[in-house]
Amino acid sequence: MSAIIDGKALAEEIKQKIAEGILKNNIVPVLAVVLVGNNEASHIYVKNKKKTAAEVGMDCRVFELPESSVQKEIEALVDKLNNDKNINGIIVQLPLPRGIDANNIISLISPEKDVDGLGVYNAGRLAMGEPNIVAATPKGILYMLKSAAGDLTGKNAVVVGRSNIVGRPVSSLLLNSDCTVTIAHSKTKNLQEVAKAADIIIAACGCPKIIKKDWVKKGAIVIDVGINRIDGKISGDVDFDEVKDIASYISPVPGGVGPMTVAMLIDNTYNACLKQLGK
Ligand code: NDP
Repeated sequence: MSAIIDGKALAEEIKQKIAEGILKNNIVPVLAVVLVGNNEASHIYVKNKKKTAAEVGMDCRVFELPESSVQKEIEALVDKLNNDKNINGIIVQLPLPRGIDANNIISLISPEKDVDGLGVYNAGRLAMGEPNIVAATPKGILYMLKSAAGDLTGKNAVVVGRSNIVGRPVSSLLLNSDCTVTIAHSKTKNLQEVAKAADIIIAACGCPKIIKKDWVKKGAIVIDVGINRIDGKISGDVDFDEVKDIASYISPVPGGVGPMTVAMLIDNTYNACLKQLGK
């Protein structure tokens, strides 16, 4: 039976520290969220970010644009927010409507305000092993791993998924923590065998319960990033009920990576504000 990595509890600790820092420094960091269109899940995520920001004493301002917005209109809003001295952090809620080049828009955010860490500058710094602002989900995953296992040096880590939001940046973070890293994706052959060799599995492919008991080495650490909605219920990429009997540590869905992602976004905004104010 494995120990559960309680993302909700860890996120509360992080939020508590940020709230104390905000009070001590007598600041109100401001996070701007660009929300384009009608994606239902995006509206829920943004509401959650706003609520979490308020809990720590941060101001989260949502800038909504209609589904019909064109590239230039979204870029103009990002430009305006870049030039607004009252805004410390900017994120563009993904996904953007069809036909919009999200990477171009995200890379327009000033690197010092890019609190999702997804722009070319911050992603490049991470890939070079010289991180500046680190993407929230990968940062949360690393925090969870270190809180469970401490030093990760020499561990074999398998990351299932190679997206710019999770798979690639978390692979860089693990590499920077001296793990030996394998990145698997939809074209990987014998994924079960690849996964079974791992001391650490990061499941981030959006395939409900793909990671089964016989895919996991005894004592491995398993972090489930997946959020899959099936019949109104959320499930991860790991078959939790099976894998919990074989892993040494496992993160649940919900209550694992999700709350850590929001906490790390808030942490990035807090730190960006301190840096911008020279504190
Ligand atoms: P993407 O769809 O951008 O990427 C999915 C990746 O998984 C791709 O690299 C894809 O490979 C790979 N993949 C798909 N199917 C398979 C398969 N059968 N075997 C191996 N690899 C496969 O998703 P994201 O990275 O944005 O998100 C991944 C999951 O994590 C989703 O469920 C998402 O909802 C969740 N998520 C959760 C967050 C949280 O805070 N908890 C934050 C962000 C995401 P290829 O490149 O070859 O297509």
